[in-house]
Amino acid sequence: MKRPDPRPDLDKLQPYYSSETAGGRIFLHANENPYPPPDDVLNEIFEAAAKIELNRYPDPEPIELIEELASYAGVDRSWIWIGDGSNEVLLQACLAYGGPGRTALMFEPTYVMHQRQARMSGMDVEVVAREADFSIDVDRATSAIKEKSPAIVFVCTPNNPTGTVTPVADVHRIAEAASGALVIVDEAYFEFCGLTVAGDLPDFPNVLVARTLSKAFRLASVRLGYGIGDPVLLEQMRRVRMPYAQSAFTQLAATVAVRRRAEMLPIVDQIVAERDRLIETLAKVARVEVFGSGANFVLFRYPEAARLLDELAGRGIVIRDFSHLKGCENCLRVTAGTPAENDSFLEVVTTLV
Ligand code: PMP
Repeated sequence: MKRPDPRPDLDKLQPYYSSETAGGRIFLHANENPYPPPDDVLNEIFEAAAKIELNRYPDPEPIELIEELASYAGVDRSWIWIGDGSNEVLLQACLAYGGPGRTALMFEPTYVMHQRQARMSGMDVEVVAREADFSIDVDRATSAIKEKSPAIVFVCTPNNPTGTVTPVADVHRIAEAASGALVIVDEAYFEFCGLTVAGDLPDFPNVLVARTLSKAFRLASVRLGYGIGDPVLLEQMRRVRMPYAQSAFTQLAATVAVRRRAEMLPIVDQIVAERDRLIETLAKVARVEVFGSGANFVLFRYPEAARLLDELAGRGIVIRDFSHLKGCENCLRVTAGTPAENDSFLEVVTTLV
């Protein structure tokens, strides 16, 4: 008997790995929200969850959730797409608008899944390097778009792992240059900077904004992401959607969390304050170069990144190594945790010798 051969182009795709977490006690590697939802919100979710009929399929079109997301995003409900985490939304966009023989263009270093999602759909990938400060040079971006004629352009803002915010006007220029291609604006972290292109979408029928409840909404384990875009654009994505994709629990938890956003979101201010404290403190450490961030994490460079990572791991503090990414040599990324968690991290970094 012979084993089957995988798709030949799979060799361009490496499985996704995050940091080693065994032995960890403070987890600042995955850009999670360190605070669970308030008790009151949790109680509502778990009381309602007891009534879920597990033998039945979940609602194929959870209107209440879609309406809550539409009201939060300030659009009509026909402009909302939901997926199992924004990762699924991004993959579905690639499956519908990418595929073999087409090209995805992205500005690296950026979220490593974008390249994988494009390749999973069979696309070729063209990379435009970000500047040394990780901003996007829009003139270079627009000429690359003209030259490569991509079917999909990814813009991540705030950008993971660098934290860089791309000004809204620059996103507009990129979207104009990419007329006829799908522009995916990944706004997973938008609540931590407040800048979005969601309100401008009526002028940009080629833009899909991808967002998530995993970060500001504190629901990483629930797996709910959403897209915002022109209904005609979303219509094509229905072709690549699984039936009954979001579990009944996911629908329930997400609906309650977004409906009760007035209780869920004020925590963002605390996280932003802690992020800024991380930046200010890191900036004072000798041989550390720290980058500005509009997200809930901070990227910094330290010439002995590997040693620092080991020292932190020895104390059970897990952050994420990005040294292997082009442009991020010796760079580490730390998520803004609780003040106590950040203190533990900063204590190690500020006593570096
Ligand atoms: N986009 C970006 C930029 C991210 O950093 C992440 C998660 N780290 C995602 C999308 C995916 O998040 P989720 O699937 O949890 O919605």
